Amino acid sequence: MIKASTMFLSTLREVPSEAEIPSHILLLRAGMIKKLVSGVYAFMPLGYRTLRKIENIVREEMDAAGAQEVLMSALQPAELWQESGRWYAYGPEMMRLKDRNEREFCLGPTHEEVFTDIVRQQVSSYRQLPLNLYQIQHKYRDEARPRFGLIRSREFIMKDDYSFDRDEAGLDVSYWNMYHAYEKIFDRCGLTYRPVEADSGAIGGSNSHEFCALSDVGEEEIIYCEHCTMAATAERAAFKDEAAPAEAELPMEKVHTPGTKTIEEVANFLGLPQSKTMKALLFEVYRPEDESGKPEYVACFIRGDRQLNMTKLVNALNVPEYAVIFANESAMGAATGCVGGFTGPVGLHDCKIVVDSELVNTKNLCAGACEEDHHILNVNYGRDYKADIVTDLKLLQAGDPCPVCGAPVKSARGIEVGQVFKLGTKYSVPMHLTYHDENQQEHPVVMGCYGIGVTRTFAAVVEQHHDDNGIIWPVSVAPYHVIITVIKPADEVQMSLAEELGKSLEQAGCEVIIDDRDERPGVKFKDADLLGIPVRITVGKKAADGIVEYKLRRGGDVAELSAKDAAAEAIKLINAEK
Ligand code: ATP
Ligand code: MG
Repeated sequence: MIKASTMFLSTLREVPSEAEIPSHILLLRAGMIKKLVSGVYAFMPLGYRTLRKIENIVREEMDAAGAQEVLMSALQPAELWQESGRWYAYGPEMMRLKDRNEREFCLGPTHEEVFTDIVRQQVSSYRQLPLNLYQIQHKYRDEARPRFGLIRSREFIMKDDYSFDRDEAGLDVSYWNMYHAYEKIFDRCGLTYRPVEADSGAIGGSNSHEFCALSDVGEEEIIYCEHCTMAATAERAAFKDEAAPAEAELPMEKVHTPGTKTIEEVANFLGLPQSKTMKALLFEVYRPEDESGKPEYVACFIRGDRQLNMTKLVNALNVPEYAVIFANESAMGAATGCVGGFTGPVGLHDCKIVVDSELVNTKNLCAGACEEDHHILNVNYGRDYKADIVTDLKLLQAGDPCPVCGAPVKSARGIEVGQVFKLGTKYSVPMHLTYHDENQQEHPVVMGCYGIGVTRTFAAVVEQHHDDNGIIWPVSVAPYHVIITVIKPADEVQMSLAEELGKSLEQAGCEVIIDDRDERPGVKFKDADLLGIPVRITVGKKAADGIVEYKLRRGGDVAELSAKDAAAEAIKLINAEK
């Protein structure tokens, strides 16, 4: 039990100007977090209590799933990342630093390398596997755009877990074990979420799921089907090509199309549907291992009415995302023959051509002529141009056919609160984490990794549980369960009833704030709403008769009850939900 008059607490009436979304606004206004610098936050007493509750839910479920908790260092030597090949691949998001002897380090953005290193020092036999280790720890990522408070910060708390198995079958068991633990964790945090298939980089396959808390402010677009179980991030969702109508290939014909730089303009000018055109997207790629500083030019082609899915392109090129940027068209034009707004695959040279799979069987398309103000009609794959890579490059959008069952798909927005990932031998092979089987044969350990953004989950709970007046904490993660608002703290009868009530609640396992501040009742009610404490009991004039007011933050009427009944109601609710 704590008295509000003694708490390190400050609530704000004003909306902080940098905050755009409810969780960021409300957590700052409630004084639960404070900003130190862009993307770096400190947790104040109430905020830290909720953070610890979320951490403990995570901890309990991870322990129940058989994982063992450890704590690795945040400071990591560059050598480990050079061994895995990620020192360069990780790019500018990594916070790098040097010690006094010029030795390079980073502040860990993630810990695959460190766990692999620790485990290889100790594991050598099949008898020591499987193994599942996790930690709850600060991570550092120099995000290009830190924003939305705890949702995308530069220092944040992650629960990261790594599984070590003898083989793929073992990994499959570990993976689904973690998947089900995640369901329990997010259920207990009171989140409405969807597990969706996620991109697993160049590894491919159905090797990963993201857990997305549904929210309009979510940065993740989720594509799902109401007629089957398909659910994936937009980045990941496969696009199943439609059967193109059979057509004879017609001869190419160059046409004058003055000033028609966009697909819409050229289609209108020529009276063609956009689906009969193809568009070019031009990129420069800087591979991290290439130190020449010269770009590799890439032209990709998709049907005019489609959108490019950058993740699919990046995976096809097998480079980190930051290595691909939009091309400087004049420099690229000089090197490859492309012409801004009029680029087509015919006439291009000295560049990598990546073609969407749909174009291969779609006949007689209109493409840029690589000549100012000109296009070519009846361009056909195979006959007129070839690709270095043919692959699905398209973004699946709401209304497009489901790649599994064909029904039109829907889209929703979500906050990625967790991800589970089958790594296979991606780290164990380069870092030589191996074990010997029963016959003394050596094999690489098969790994999985599983992350939960603990601080992001904190914010996601607020996104889903608030109203205009403030936060509405689910009991399971509320900083305190009950706030006893004393109307006139100077009145001894009121204070002693409040304290008696507080004691009986505390004895029953409830966590209580007594708001004994010398403030107007209206201010105290507003703060109680802003802080989102699940139960408010008001002790006022009728204290002499042992009568109080009982109200739930989530809604419902104010009830006048005897202090004893109010305590019984609160205890019943909190024990059922905590
Ligand atoms: P995102 O795509 O949102 O940048 P990610 O896929 O790079 O995230 P992971 O490497 O999968 O993130 O990290 C595991 C979890 O850590 C994520 O599911 C997310 O909940 C959390 N997380 C990642 N980046 C941040 C961040 N900048 N701030 C807060 N939480 C983060
Ligand atoms: Mg992720």
